[in-house]
Amino acid sequence: TKWVYGFGDGRAEGEQGMRNLLGGKGANLAEMSNIGLPVPPGFTITTEVCTHYYAHDRHYPPELAGEVEAALAAVGRITGKRFGDPANPLLVSVRSGARASMPGMMDTVLNLGLNDATVAAVAAASGDERFAWDSYRRFITMYSDVVLEVDHAHFEEILEDFKEHKGYVLDTDLTAADWKGLVAKYKTLVQEELGKPFPQDPHEQLWGAIGAVFSSWMNARAITYRSLQQIPESWGTAVNVQAMVFGNRGESSATGVAFTRNPSTGENALYGEFLINAQGEDVVAGIRTPQPITETARIAGGMPAPSMEKAMPQAFAEFKRITHVLEQHYRDMQDIEFTVEAGKLWMLQTRSGKRTGKASLRIAVEMANEGVITRAEAVARVDPAGLDQLLHPTLDPKAARQEIARGLPASPGAASGEIVFTSEEAEAVKSAGRPVILVRQETSPEDIKGMLAAAGILTRLGGMTSHAAVVARGWGKPCVSGAGSIRVDAAAGVLHAGGKAWRRGDIITLDGSTGQVLAGKVAMQQPELSGEFATLMEWADGLRRMKVRTNAETPSDARQARQFGAEGIGLCRTEHMFFEEGRIVAMREMILADDEKGRRAALAKLLPMQRADFRQLFEIMSGLPVTIRLLDPPLHEFLPHTDEEVAEVAAAMGASEAKLKARALELSEFNPMLGFRGCRLAIAYPEIAEMQARAIFEAAVEAARSTGKPVTPEVMVPLVATKAELDLVKARIVAMAEAVTRESGVALSYQVGTMIELPRAALRAGEIAATAEFFSFGTNDLTQTTIGISRDDAAAFLGTYVQKGIFAVDPFVSIDQEGVGELVKLAAERGRAARAGLKLGICGEHGGDPASIAFCESAGLDYVSCSPFRVPIARLAAAQAAL
Ligand code: ADP
Ligand code: MG
Ligand code: MG
Repeated sequence: TKWVYGFGDGRAEGEQGMRNLLGGKGANLAEMSNIGLPVPPGFTITTEVCTHYYAHDRHYPPELAGEVEAALAAVGRITGKRFGDPANPLLVSVRSGARASMPGMMDTVLNLGLNDATVAAVAAASGDERFAWDSYRRFITMYSDVVLEVDHAHFEEILEDFKEHKGYVLDTDLTAADWKGLVAKYKTLVQEELGKPFPQDPHEQLWGAIGAVFSSWMNARAITYRSLQQIPESWGTAVNVQAMVFGNRGESSATGVAFTRNPSTGENALYGEFLINAQGEDVVAGIRTPQPITETARIAGGMPAPSMEKAMPQAFAEFKRITHVLEQHYRDMQDIEFTVEAGKLWMLQTRSGKRTGKASLRIAVEMANEGVITRAEAVARVDPAGLDQLLHPTLDPKAARQEIARGLPASPGAASGEIVFTSEEAEAVKSAGRPVILVRQETSPEDIKGMLAAAGILTRLGGMTSHAAVVARGWGKPCVSGAGSIRVDAAAGVLHAGGKAWRRGDIITLDGSTGQVLAGKVAMQQPELSGEFATLMEWADGLRRMKVRTNAETPSDARQARQFGAEGIGLCRTEHMFFEEGRIVAMREMILADDEKGRRAALAKLLPMQRADFRQLFEIMSGLPVTIRLLDPPLHEFLPHTDEEVAEVAAAMGASEAKLKARALELSEFNPMLGFRGCRLAIAYPEIAEMQARAIFEAAVEAARSTGKPVTPEVMVPLVATKAELDLVKARIVAMAEAVTRESGVALSYQVGTMIELPRAALRAGEIAATAEFFSFGTNDLTQTTIGISRDDAAAFLGTYVQKGIFAVDPFVSIDQEGVGELVKLAAERGRAARAGLKLGICGEHGGDPASIAFCESAGLDYVSCSPFRVPIARLAAAQAAL
């Protein structure tokens, strides 16, 4: 096995495709070398070394030391320096790099190779004493923090005390002598903390740093991040060792980060930040405020001069050229890290840039229009889940806003919620069902859980490329970062903003698109669905096979879903129509009646209401298919709860309260989910199904008249286990259709079908299909009944199941393809074998989940049905599934 891959000087042993072995950073450093970009030479120690290290009780492969020596020598030849040479030292950075980027996970060590001897050589060679000692103090601080585990704060304290004493404001105010004095203090600190001196031997330093990278793969932060992002532990991390280039060599040097397009809006304009006379982390650390890369951005942001474009025009021109090369080469928006040393540009990293859902859309559409990618690629690129943030409301521009602070618009969208200061609080309040805004000084990977729970994130420090900003954009959560005017006192649970103390639990609103922090809750408005969104959806619609319908019962949901492109209703839950004001009493009368006569009297009151509901839905759907499910839930769900409610129903029925209470008690069940519900209601009380069927057919006649379009209702019978059940209920429906036809003189076209939501129904799908004209897989119930887990009780243990890897994901979120999925496939096959052209759909929550939609495509379903806000997600996911 080869453990080490070199790169630099226009060539490399690795390439872009080798990210599993070299990690993302290593593969791209190799690729940038291959295409002739200026990359400081270096080498990558592979992820296989990491795997070997953990498989062998933290020992390296025996050949590793030799390969590293050889690679160091090669870097030395390219740079004309030698690692550890006291007269002409090669300095390196040691950088981690896993397959998937893990922001902030493992810290980089810069300037490695410096010691009391080499620092003098660097000073002499550069003729810049200050630069040499600045580099040395950086190295001691970083190395001590990352490798020796001496807390960063100790060094900060010494530095801050010194600056205060000298009356300095910025780190750049310190002179060579100042840094030299601090280095001595730093070394004493290390000696005191560790009981041994700071390591002077460059090789000891190097192996210390390599070891720290590999160990950090198993630190708590990394483990949490991996489990949240579902990154397998077995992947391991690579280590990159690379010749240093110096952005801290005075005014003609700088370091920066940039995106080739705007990661918030997607605008095709170079976007980024840089700092003159600084090294790597300074840009993201928020110690000094970075400057924009381009002059346009500087002016737009009202930032003080200079931009990189003005300050170093030559390096800027070269940088601009390279960003274009990179975009064309990778055919995607890139996130780039670079350094300018004495006017010369060096590329230190490139990767596909994280972006908001909005940016993702715009970039995909524009790149397809530019001819960089195909339309199908554009469709494939956009994460359907990321559309979510576009479909959700933003702040109503007409609503009054009381601004209490302003920061950077780090991740767009808006959210209101209770202020919390820690991850624990965020999770607790969120699980109590209330939205939260996580307020932090700055965030680090330790805050990931809180960020996940939060509706929005507010930080005092950090720029557009800070940890909070990057993570929030990735998750599509609004974030305001760098709100410098606020004060965060987490210990006391107080946020000072806008001249007021906001306590834990107070409500604030964030506008991640403007960077505003607002008092209280602010009204939201519906999203804009034209432009790139419409274009991409049109491309997606041209590529998909499955239809996308919606689950809707109210006119507003139905209208919303049509705006989102729904091609019909796949599930209208009629029971939801009975909870409304003015109906629930009639419904209760029906349920509590002793006999059929009493029930029919109550049903007669419900009929016109149901008919009006259905007519409205048919009219909104204007000729598109509408599947209406007969009453499904256990009757006890409709029972009156309070004495007042009982009295109201008693008065309406002219019955005694005591009698009603007794009847209610009779209806209570041990296990309602498997109780008196679904078609069992229609079997026991056929008059309910008859009323509903009449309402459906009469509404169809009326809507066909009013819209001039034929209406073909699909009447769906729930919770069928046997063909006999469906036969009985279907007979009633058909009889009612005949009655309505006779009465109205209008010939009806309709279908009767069933839900497949019990394992027995799936198994006997062949015979059920003799009666059913369509199947709709009710995968919520099918999941409950197949796995034997009640969804409402699963919360107590399902998390543990997922953690322990028993389920890869919550089977109620993403369909269990192996188990529940096998029943779906089997029922689809048996059903279609019995009835050619049997229409198949899915109407559980899974209908809006991209992974489940891909499964539905493979099972050959005709359509998926999901909640209105998921319709665009489903359209895109269905297209991707068909690609
Ligand atoms: P991360 O994965 O956290 O971004 P990196 O390994 O990319 O960590 O290092 C962080 C920063 O350190 C880089 O963006 C760059 O500015 C700086 N850096 C890393 N290696 C070098 C190097 N060889 N020369 C100069 N700067 C470097
Ligand atoms: Mg980096
Ligand atoms: Mg069901």
